Amino acid sequence: MTKSLLERIPQHIRQVVPYQPGKPVEEVERELGIRAIKLASNENPLGPSPLAVEAAQKALVEANRYPDGGSFYLREKIAVRHGIGMEAVFVGLGSSEVIDLAARVLLGPGLEAVTSEGSYPPYAISTCAVGAKLVTAPLKDYAYDLDALAKVVTPETRIVFLANPNNPTGTYFRADALDKFLRHVSSQTLVVLDEAYFDFVEDSQYSRSIALAKQSENILVLRTFSKVYGLAGLRVGYGIGPAGLLVEMDKLRTAFNTASIGQAAALAAMDDTEHVRRSVEMNRAGRKQIEQGLAAMGVRYVPSAANFVFVETESSGATVGAELLKQGVIARPMGWMGFPHAIRISVGLEEENRRFLEAFERVHRPKAAAPRN
Ligand SMILES: *Cc1c(COP(=O)(O)O)cnc(C)c1O
Repeated sequence: MTKSLLERIPQHIRQVVPYQPGKPVEEVERELGIRAIKLASNENPLGPSPLAVEAAQKALVEANRYPDGGSFYLREKIAVRHGIGMEAVFVGLGSSEVIDLAARVLLGPGLEAVTSEGSYPPYAISTCAVGAKLVTAPLKDYAYDLDALAKVVTPETRIVFLANPNNPTGTYFRADALDKFLRHVSSQTLVVLDEAYFDFVEDSQYSRSIALAKQSENILVLRTFSKVYGLAGLRVGYGIGPAGLLVEMDKLRTAFNTASIGQAAALAAMDDTEHVRRSVEMNRAGRKQIEQGLAAMGVRYVPSAANFVFVETESSGATVGAELLKQGVIARPMGWMGFPHAIRISVGLEEENRRFLEAFERVHRPKAAAPRN
C-alpha cells in the first residue's frame, strides 16, 4: 500500500502541461534529411547585434569566473534607459524566469492568477507549479477581452498576466484600455504587463507601461532580449516593478541566474540602436509580405503587431505544420495553445517568408476546395 516516490509528487505538478518549443532546425534536418528554415519561435532573423557577439566573445575567456549574480551593470543600464532606480529592475534568465519568480513569491494553494485563454503557456505552468489556480476569460476576436478579464478577478487573485501584444495571436490593447482595466483591479493584485514584443508595435497609443510602473505598487513590466535584440539563445530578460516585490523574488532566484556572457551581450546590444532599427524595419516589411501573400491566397490570418502571424488553417494546424515540415519550413502548430485549426509563423528574412508562402500555398488547400472566382 505504500506509495512510490513518483506517486508522491503533488498532483498539481503532475498536472502541468509541458511547454512545447518550436523544433530546432538541426532536429528537422537530421530526421527528414532536408534543409530547413525555422519560423517557429519568433526569433530575430537578422541574428544578434555584431556588438553583442563581440562582447559575448570577450566575456567567454573569463567563463571560469562566476557571473555577477546581481547583474549590476545591466540593471544599472536598464534603469538609466528607463529613468528609474536600479532597485526597480530585476534581471532574469529570460523574462520566463521573472514570470516564474513572481508566481513563486505571490501565489500558492488557495490563490489565483488570471490570464486570457489562448495566451502565453508559461503563465499557466508557473501558476500550476505552485499549486495555485489559473482562471481565464476567452479571447474576443483573437484579442484580450479586458472587460471579461476584469470580471474574473477576485480577492484571491494575486497576479493578472497580460501579454501585450499577445502571443500567439499578435493582437494588442492600447494604454487607455489598460487604464480602464486597472480601475477594476485592487492594488493588492499584481498586474504583469508582458511586453516581449514592445519594439515591434507601431502605434503611439500602445503603451505607457514604464510610467505606470513608476507610479504604481502593483505593476510589473516585462521586457526581453530574446526578440528584437536577437539574443534568445543567451536567455536574458527583465522586469520593472515594485522594489519590495523584487527583493523577495531576488531571494528565490538561483544565486547566479544569468550567465556572464548573456549579461555582456545584453549590455552591448542596448547600445546598438541601429540594429534594433533595422530589425524593426525588416520585421515591418516581412510581416506585410506574409500578410499580403496570405490575403492573396484567400487565407484568414490575424493582423499582427508583433514579429509573427497567426494563420487559420482549413485542415488541422498539426497536419499543416507536418506538411510544411516536409517542405523544410518549421512553423508552430497551435493546437496545444487551444487553436486546433491554426499555425503561427514567425517573420523571417524576405526569402524565408517567400519560401513559407510557396510551401503554404501547396499545402493549405483542402482536397475538395470550392472553385474560387
Ligand atoms: C517570447 C516571449 C517571452 C520571452 O521569453 P524569454 O524567456 O525572455 O525568452 C515572454 N513573453 C512572451 C509573451 C513571449 O512571447
